Amino acid sequence: MEHIFPTYAQYPMEIVSGHDWHLVDSNHKEYLDFTSGIGVCSFGYSNDWIEQSVINQLGKIWHTSNLYPSQLQDDVANALCPEGMLAFFCNSGTEANEAAFKLARKVTGKAKVLAFNNGFHGRTYGSMSLTGNPDIQAGFKPLVPEVSFADYNDPNALDAITDDLAAVILEVIQGEGGVVSGNGEWLQKVAAKCHEQGVLLIIDEVQTGIGRTGMKFAFQNFNLDPDIITCAKALGNGLPIGAMLGKKELASAFGPGSHGTTFGGNKIALASAKAVLEQLTPSFLENVQKKSQAVFAAINQEVNPLAVVDSVSGLGLMIGIHLNPTVKVADVIAQLQDEGLLTLSAKHNTLRLLPPLVMSESDLLAGIDQIADALANVAVQVKSESI
Ligand SMILES: *Cc1c(COP(=O)(O)O)cnc(C)c1O
Repeated sequence: MEHIFPTYAQYPMEIVSGHDWHLVDSNHKEYLDFTSGIGVCSFGYSNDWIEQSVINQLGKIWHTSNLYPSQLQDDVANALCPEGMLAFFCNSGTEANEAAFKLARKVTGKAKVLAFNNGFHGRTYGSMSLTGNPDIQAGFKPLVPEVSFADYNDPNALDAITDDLAAVILEVIQGEGGVVSGNGEWLQKVAAKCHEQGVLLIIDEVQTGIGRTGMKFAFQNFNLDPDIITCAKALGNGLPIGAMLGKKELASAFGPGSHGTTFGGNKIALASAKAVLEQLTPSFLENVQKKSQAVFAAINQEVNPLAVVDSVSGLGLMIGIHLNPTVKVADVIAQLQDEGLLTLSAKHNTLRLLPPLVMSESDLLAGIDQIADALANVAVQVKSESI
């Protein structure tokens, strides 16, 4: 890739087509996909309902500016928002978090925001400044001021939630940070302290939302009541779209001229999101939960006991397999790629699995078998090397 900035360490193959939950590279090799393109293509690669919705919209009109109202935007917002919330549409996760950060400062008149170590919120200045990962911030200072960090799942973090904060931002499962689940009781205490101190709670659902954990939003697993929700990744099943959802009471700070985007809410991406949300029914989500139970049962039986596995985490079909330092997650990913299975990594030597939510239970379990075999063989290699 001689004409492209080298911002990504890329794998050796180019994906050129896909169907259902399988991908095909330029050498016609087929892969079972446990990545969804980093949690994006939850409905796989040949979903007729989404395809028809986008094709119909392509034949009508692609873009009108946000100076004109859009029934499509209102319909998608209605399908997406929890009761009592409004939507602002943008094009990505980082933009959704930028909107949340700006809204929180403007509506509260306060500057400070508390975020968490190992959290990830995006790569633009605001979102990067909220991202608790020095590697991601390195070389880009000065960052947006007045952001502080606390340790995730740490009871001491509650003391940092004081009434001089505009907002607290967190993921209920830290995705890039290593598929680290929030402790339910701790999350509820954070939410309660925010409400008590008049601090807005922003929940970043960019990776966890749109059914990934078996609920529409992951915070619903923990009975939380966020003031602002951000989402993106899976919302358009591959077309670029993000959204910031916030309580109606916050609307006065986001009046005409306060915030905007040229492409946000564009009709092609919205047509895709509409078809995604039409399929995100209670029975679809129940089915994700059912498949998740079968997958975690298999993981606990076949993967967790392996010598190279420290622990397993996750919820729904968002899964982290934490490898001990004797193996490198990159080596495991490369071996699985050779064998025709695509997986991801996350921080702390974590093998991260984000299969399309539509994947059949039998293919999910076949993939877990294959991962268990690969990890068992890695263990043998390490042992024989150390002899
Ligand atoms: C991916 C991600 C983002 C950033 O989304 P982009 O669309 O890449 O800007 C923000 N927050 C979380 C939790 C994410 O996983």
